[in-house]
Amino acid sequence: MSDQFPEFFVRLDTFSSAVWYRTRRGRYRLEGTRCANCDTKFFPPRTGLICPVCYAREMVPYECAHTGTLVAVAQDNLGFPAWGYGDDLPRVMVIVRLDDGVHVMGDVVEFEEPEAVEPGARVKMVLRKHRREDTGAWVYGYRFVLADL
Ligand SMILES: [Zn+2]
Repeated sequence: MSDQFPEFFVRLDTFSSAVWYRTRRGRYRLEGTRCANCDTKFFPPRTGLICPVCYAREMVPYECAHTGTLVAVAQDNLGFPAWGYGDDLPRVMVIVRLDDGVHVMGDVVEFEEPEAVEPGARVKMVLRKHRREDTGAWVYGYRFVLADL
């Protein structure tokens, strides 16, 4: 930490800026793919692969729904902060069934009480800081917050 970078740097593993750049549409907008033949939706995107339902080869970009329902909740309450996830601990990892049927793994942030984060709760996607590149630039991506929808 310094005057220039007041927030903590997280460097737990090798960072590939190229991978994070290529996956930015998925992280920013939940963009997956959709089979052009049978309309099955996929997230993360199945690019360059065949559809497992109808074996067609054409996939087109598809922006998943930004709201959904919690299916599974797991609290990572280790008793010490998980680096890079802010002060709103414990970290709560969830599986969300989006309103278009796609299942996504993510984190629920900015909740008041951990008990309110339970299966069946409604959530919406928000854009939050994920971590830092080695250059110091922030990488953003999706998180979920509880929402009355
Ligand atoms: Zn298909």
